[in-house]
Amino acid sequence: MKNYLKLLFLLSSTLFAIENSSYIGGVAVVDVGVFDEKPKVFYKTKEAKVIEKEGNYFAVIGIGLSEKVGKKHIVAVSHDKKLDFYFQVKSKSYKKEYIKLKTNKRVTLSKKNLARFHKEKAKTKELLGSFNKTLSSDLNFVTPVHGRISSVFGKRRYFNKKPKAPHSGIDIAAKRGTPILAAESGIVAIQEEFFFNGNTIYLDHGEGIVTIYCHMSKFEVYEGDFVNKGDVIGYVGTTGRSTGPHLHFGVVLNSKAVDPKIFVNDYATTSKLSRSSFSQIGSEK
Ligand SMILES: [Zn+2]
Repeated sequence: MKNYLKLLFLLSSTLFAIENSSYIGGVAVVDVGVFDEKPKVFYKTKEAKVIEKEGNYFAVIGIGLSEKVGKKHIVAVSHDKKLDFYFQVKSKSYKKEYIKLKTNKRVTLSKKNLARFHKEKAKTKELLGSFNKTLSSDLNFVTPVHGRISSVFGKRRYFNKKPKAPHSGIDIAAKRGTPILAAESGIVAIQEEFFFNGNTIYLDHGEGIVTIYCHMSKFEVYEGDFVNKGDVIGYVGTTGRSTGPHLHFGVVLNSKAVDPKIFVNDYATTSKLSRSSFSQIGSEK
């Protein structure tokens, strides 16, 4: 109970949903106690983000969709201490989704496209495996685009009946050209036209926290730029494997994609846009 209250205190000023999201595709916040300097925390081989609140440290750990439920182990290390901690990962069921695409071009890949996809994947994997200590986020994100959620996180997806990886973010349907805001300050680590994701930006927020924005019609920033929270980084489009204008928004912690709704939950549009305002239902990457 004491820990629970401590977490509420910590998170009331940053995240409210996170303390209850220790499930697959979610985030665990683990109280690792008092250290005289910020400890490093490792979950499996990956370093995890650590937040400090009045001398007490909390590890913030992304839990992958492929993680098994049950008791998990982390290690907190400082210059004079090495302590073991444990947390529970609960189950969560995600829906299935069947998507029909006009052609199989982006379902069954040609050799050339497959090579391109692998090259892109290697580039993103390298970034997601990094732990940039020059930046730090308080995890208090802003909504990148307001619109209708056309696809939730974690859906098992079938493209033209072929099973594909589960949905690694959320899709927010919005009018083409709607400005996309940086959810948090950071560095534009990747700005590229990707095969599946179309015009894509990866923002590095430091300490293994990355946000991802896909299918843009146009970029507003370039690789290496520093952006402030709320800056326009690009515009909603339907580039790549997409069936209509939308933003695919992803959040990654310690190289694991987690549900962006844990961080930002006010996507509803404030204007009077109705469902029929969208020429097509924007969905997928
Ligand atoms: Zn998507």
